[in-house]
Amino acid sequence: MSMSAMPGQMAAMVSHSIPSICVISGPDYDAIIIGAGQAGLATGYYLQRQGKRFLILEGAATLGSSWRSRYDSLILFTPAHYSSLPGLPFPLSPNTCPTKDQVADYFTRYVDFHQLPVKLNHRVTRLSKTASQLASPLASPFEIQVSDGAGNAFLYRARNVIVATGSSQNPYVPHYDTGPDESVFQVHSSRYTRASALPDGNVLVVGAGNSGALLSVELATTPSRRTYLSTNGPLVFKPLRVLGKSIFWWGTKTGLFNLPTRSRLGRRLRAGGEGVYSDDLKRLVRAGKVRVVAEIERFSGREVFFRDGTAETFSSIVWATGYRSDYRWMDLAGALDSNGGPIHEAGVSPVGGAYFVGLSWQRTATSALILGAVRDARFIAGKMREREVAHPREPVSTDLP
Ligand SMILES: Cc1cc2nc3c(=O)[nH]c(=O)nc-3n(C[C@H](O)[C@H](O)[C@H](O)COP(=O)(O)OP(=O)(O)OC[C@H]3O[C@@H](n4cnc5c(N)ncnc54)[C@H](O)[C@@H]3O)c2cc1C
Repeated sequence: MSMSAMPGQMAAMVSHSIPSICVISGPDYDAIIIGAGQAGLATGYYLQRQGKRFLILEGAATLGSSWRSRYDSLILFTPAHYSSLPGLPFPLSPNTCPTKDQVADYFTRYVDFHQLPVKLNHRVTRLSKTASQLASPLASPFEIQVSDGAGNAFLYRARNVIVATGSSQNPYVPHYDTGPDESVFQVHSSRYTRASALPDGNVLVVGAGNSGALLSVELATTPSRRTYLSTNGPLVFKPLRVLGKSIFWWGTKTGLFNLPTRSRLGRRLRAGGEGVYSDDLKRLVRAGKVRVVAEIERFSGREVFFRDGTAETFSSIVWATGYRSDYRWMDLAGALDSNGGPIHEAGVSPVGGAYFVGLSWQRTATSALILGAVRDARFIAGKMREREVAHPREPVSTDLP
């Protein structure tokens, strides 16, 4: 294991609860950011401006991997101006919507431009504090255990952690007592690549969020299949442009996109659902090219029965049913609720020094989008600084547990 990549640090092989682990000690980090997607990179930018000593640990081998792995034809619905990270505008004209690969390329350029300290192939497998450390949170660091995917484990220590791991860890497919026949081709939207990868014949897209909407449009505009979209509620279309301006322009100008999630209006906005940003889907539904059906009731062979009383036979099903986040690696008492979700107030965890960025509805309606994650990153960096000012730096214990 080469230590040359860790200038100014001391590394030691020590015995630990797992076979062998390389402890990165020496000067402690002010913060470690977990995840180098938009939320992690934007947080890194603000911590760098504060002069903090920090690292961004990324489990994947490349930057922008969550964007690059999405389906081939994905074009963002947010124009470049609203898809930019701080300190380096997206290199497209402001009203052009980038492709998913342009986003991944931009993130790579962004890290290079700002010289952000990202460590790729550094998947965090455990985040913890020992019981005695929890009793004295200000003087004790978090311990962040990392695997590099090649059999090496590292242990980092930091006074603050910012969890920016996104919400797409585990693709979710609803459970049915009896599923469709084995001959039906099934794919989750996270693994969908292109329409030609699906067999001819009727296709059912399940889930009418934005992924389901975009995939229905793509499938309905290819020959040799009829496309159905199953939804568990009314389809609420939202326009992408109003009076010649992007709705992101209007939402920002009117303050609608800055409404706190917990405010009365914010709660009403949230209850109204995400909405579907696809004029193309609206047109195709009206033209009968995408048939909207209710929620699935049951399967029988290749036939699917819907709660609206209709039934149809399908050769393929695309599950655009979202994701479930997975924070089981967070071994911090009081950080997660009984469902394993993060407990937080606008991204601030009750565990002092722990924060989240990139959660859906974290602070506003746009928290899960690039534009909202950037604002939340700035807010969290500010909260971290406030806490440090309120509790001036104490020496961090580097005793091994
Ligand atoms: C189909 C689709 C279309 C979308 N279109 C838009 C759009 O037009 N505009 C827009 O603004 N947003 C859009 N979004 C929403 C949003 O911008 C993305 O979901 C975005 O990728 C979320 O960013 P993030 O940084 O929070 O998480 P991610 O992009 O998921 O990044 C999290 C990173 O953390 C890493 N990670 C996870 N666990 C660990 C671990 N244990 N240790 C270390 N690293 C870890 C992952 O490898 C990943 O790189 C879209 C989403 C989807 C699915």
